[in-house]
Amino acid sequence: MTAPVLTVDLSAMAANWAALDAMTNCETAAVVKADAYGCGAGPVARALALKGARRFFVALAEEGVALRAALGEGPEINVLGGHMEGDGRRIASASLTPVLNSLDQVLRHLEALPDHPFAIQLDTGMNRLGLEPADWAGLRQIEMPKPRFVMSHLACADDPGHVMNARQLKVFKEMTAGVDVPRSLSATGGILLGRDYHFDFTRPGIGLHGADPFTEGQAAVQLALPVIQVRDVAVGETVGYSNTWTAKRPSRIATVAAGYADGLHRAMGAKTLLFAGERACPVVGRISMDLITVDVTDLAEVPPALDILNRHQRADHLAANAGTIGYEILTSLGARYERRYEGGI
Ligand SMILES: *Cc1c(COP(=O)(O)O)cnc(C)c1O
Repeated sequence: MTAPVLTVDLSAMAANWAALDAMTNCETAAVVKADAYGCGAGPVARALALKGARRFFVALAEEGVALRAALGEGPEINVLGGHMEGDGRRIASASLTPVLNSLDQVLRHLEALPDHPFAIQLDTGMNRLGLEPADWAGLRQIEMPKPRFVMSHLACADDPGHVMNARQLKVFKEMTAGVDVPRSLSATGGILLGRDYHFDFTRPGIGLHGADPFTEGQAAVQLALPVIQVRDVAVGETVGYSNTWTAKRPSRIATVAAGYADGLHRAMGAKTLLFAGERACPVVGRISMDLITVDVTDLAEVPPALDILNRHQRADHLAANAGTIGYEILTSLGARYERRYEGGI
């Protein structure tokens, strides 16, 4: 083994999708932008399609083209970034549905591809993407083809007590009153807010990975880092850049083959553990670009690889150590990892 191995458990992801689906009375889509949060959009989407997902979301038309090649004809592939200048051919040839975010995008789409389906995103207060109430009201006066659906996105759904949730729900209901196409408001966080937020379909992404805010979900990734070298260090010797760790006992140090260039952020540092099966070994010294040093003194035998992600230490734990969110840990998962898939159905 040379490269680190990221093993993605597709049956865990399918089970997480099904568990989120079971919390609602409506349809459940799947958000697989950013290569399914670092796990591989093609294999993940195929597994979810076999489980019953019929609608997928990506951020960019380029991602949509690749996903269409992986999924084949049939499932709806929606592009959250909408219809950008020059996207027409990609949207048409891969049968993508752009989620139009502005009057400019609506005009561009209707001019370039007048008979091609589209959806509409409304801004209900997040001020990131989507038509403002006045633009939407204006658009509804104009005779034009119907969108496939209308959607919006919640800014604070990961905080169930936040007043913004009810405020955006109210605005969404007002803006979509009388609309006779499917409506969608909620990602993972919104699903957990309850039935009022579900409408016709939901759009979970992070929840498929069993990460915050769907912490009851199953862990879906294991990341094994090969041990390149093991050495003994004496009391008083230091390890790594800037001498941040000094041995207080005779120690064994393993050096593994991944670092911050692989998304294992330098900031996650010393609180992070690597696992030999069930046994935890602490990171010592600075995380380097391609290497991490680990105190394996207490292991009877050093295995060929140590795990940095597994069911004991999930993306959310690494995120807490680094002062970020699980989303960023997952979407940073390194391009150098060999990705393996298990539990395909
Ligand atoms: C990323 C995204 C989602 C998925 O969000 P999660 O929090 O990962 O479930 C859904 N809808 C939109 C518009 C998004 O940008």
